[in-house]
Amino acid sequence: MPPEVLLENMKCPLGCPPEDETILVGRDRLHNLPGEFTVVKCRTCGLMRTNPRPTPRTIGYYYPDDYGPYHGTRVDHTKLSDGPLPPWKRLLKRVFQFNTQCLPPLPPGRMLEVGCASGAFLHRMACQGWEVEGIEPSEDAANSARLLGYPVYMGSIEGAPEPDYLYDLVVGWMVLEHLHNPLLALKKLRRWVKPGGWLAISVPNAAALEFRMFKDAWYALQVPTHLYHYTPRTLEMLLAKTGWRREKVFDQRILTNLVVSLGYCLQDKMPRSRLASYLVNFPNIGVAGNLMLYPFAYVLSLFGQAGRMTVWARRME
Ligand SMILES: [Zn+2]
Repeated sequence: MPPEVLLENMKCPLGCPPEDETILVGRDRLHNLPGEFTVVKCRTCGLMRTNPRPTPRTIGYYYPDDYGPYHGTRVDHTKLSDGPLPPWKRLLKRVFQFNTQCLPPLPPGRMLEVGCASGAFLHRMACQGWEVEGIEPSEDAANSARLLGYPVYMGSIEGAPEPDYLYDLVVGWMVLEHLHNPLLALKKLRRWVKPGGWLAISVPNAAALEFRMFKDAWYALQVPTHLYHYTPRTLEMLLAKTGWRREKVFDQRILTNLVVSLGYCLQDKMPRSRLASYLVNFPNIGVAGNLMLYPFAYVLSLFGQAGRMTVWARRME
């Protein structure tokens, strides 16, 4: 373990007896940083977590400046004033945004995005008439989002101050699995929405067959930045415990997990394989690659096997 990284042991956040089963030992494959991390499963409730894990103060080591999600959502300031997209591009965008970032049918109101990165989604919602705010731990990304003109709190959701007004909707795309204290975060967000307010989040789905197939080579495992590994059932328990009623689960229509995981397996056997490095870099292919694979992703999603899910929940009274 690198000397600047401190580890901490954490019990199951659902308050279960401290009995875990070891599932696998993985490493950082996104940036190939040193360290080995064990994923355990609570024997009582089944919630999986990375344990021990880097402390909140030292986990930054595993989020280097080139951490993908910070850049993937960057909005080109020079293009903000461009006219509307041509119809075909708009259709493609809608297809891909459907159930990766799909939202409950709500009229524009106040929205908070947890982990807003560089502000692309904030911008999209603002263009649709929403009053938007963000929370983002990366200084660089938070500044990019602020440059777009949106209020962004730079820091963690766990440490964020109470808002002045309540929200109609809180979203968090691929965020919950990164949080050290998801229980605290979800309780806080529950307090921050209006009565009947909504939560829309996405997380990897560790109930998918691909997790059992690829194990430590599963793309969505992403230890040690992914601290929890949710299934629809364990996520529903966490939501219920924090005052949210799960309304809907969508299986995303995207094959990135599968393609990159295949690349990792191939890379393990043939480190210099060009095919492997092509597959591992699949997330950068963008619309064209995803479009080609969309029919397969659609079929997998019908069986809950696409490896990522979007969940809607509503504040319980
Ligand atoms: Zn438990």
